[in-house]
Amino acid sequence: MCKTPLVIAFDFADLKSATVLAEQLTPQLCRAKVGKELFTACGMTVVDMLQGKGYEVFLDLKFHDIPNTVAKAVAVAARANVWMLNIHASGGRRMMEAAKEALLKLDSETLLIAVTVLTSMDQSDLDLLGLKRSLEEQVFALATSAKESGLDGVVCSAQEARQLRQYCGSEFLLVTPGIRPATAVADDQRRTLTPSQAIAAGSNYLVVGRPITQADDPRVALEQMVRQLRE
Ligand code: C5P
Repeated sequence: MCKTPLVIAFDFADLKSATVLAEQLTPQLCRAKVGKELFTACGMTVVDMLQGKGYEVFLDLKFHDIPNTVAKAVAVAARANVWMLNIHASGGRRMMEAAKEALLKLDSETLLIAVTVLTSMDQSDLDLLGLKRSLEEQVFALATSAKESGLDGVVCSAQEARQLRQYCGSEFLLVTPGIRPATAVADDQRRTLTPSQAIAAGSNYLVVGRPITQADDPRVALEQMVRQLRE
């Protein structure tokens, strides 16, 4: 039912704040992302609240564990009809395949995407882990592994999107955070793109947090972003 690629990060520590934002925004113009902070505070209650108001929910819990544990957690999320969820590609092929298998068994339409290399990491972090590949090679290797494991796409920085789109084909979903309107401050994001630039680079879904959640009027900020995307 949502007609835009915008996914708003509900980065809050309590149900009340999430409910206020859900009532300010509208599920016609965005989806909702629930991350570790809000989920740890509220559990599935917040997913129920958002779905009850008509939002499709991206459960951003980045599962990374043994295949059996991840598959069971994925199955619980799928039974709750979340729209999208994610796991770490670095959990390995068997973990990703087990997660996908859990969805297939349930005949679930939940989208399953992978995190490749966290955008907070740089080459020196990979070196410390003993990885011999360059950061870019690692991103592409893990994206390929996710695709071969049957996943629907990856979370990626807008900078990686253009190459990943060429590399992984048109069907593979690219979900991109680090989005800022041309006029906004970058906050702690280092490399940002505007929504239109991210779409032009090949992103399918744009994750936006503070430019909307901290705006004086979140609904107006959302509508402006939708308008910019349509220009
Ligand atoms: O407020 P802001 O727009 O920076 O929020 C971006 C959201 O996307 C946050 O929920 C953040 O955790 C998430 N995210 C990110 N970078 C990644 C993966 C997720 O900023 N590589």
